[in-house]
Amino acid sequence: MNKCPECGGSLVGRSDRKFCCDDCRNSYHNKKNRIENGELRRVNRILKSNYIILKELSTKRSITKSGRIRCNIATLLSRGFNFKYFTCIELDNGKNPKYLCYNIQYTICKNDCVIIYQIIDNGNN
Ligand SMILES: [Zn+2]
Repeated sequence: MNKCPECGGSLVGRSDRKFCCDDCRNSYHNKKNRIENGELRRVNRILKSNYIILKELSTKRSITKSGRIRCNIATLLSRGFNFKYFTCIELDNGKNPKYLCYNIQYTICKNDCVIIYQIIDNGNN
């Protein structure tokens, strides 16, 4: 006989029954959602923090004629940038991959240099 995944009680009645009662079903799903939302929030916080760091650098630093901002990995790390997290990666044969953090693109070059590309303007500014 199957057991209720929430309280471990025996399941009686229909064979496709998953929980012993509505309270157990609700409690089980609430817990599951809380864990999933917690993980989403954790990753979203990192991405948002990365975004703010990139955005601050792109507005404070002088932008080169080509519309790029140069800084080094240490600068980003000192501000708490987490290189493990990004929203998209663009692989281009033989070239350094381009990372996206939302609408800000950056590339990591061999000499520990990070090139941040101007924010892709969506026409709202
Ligand atoms: Zn139960």
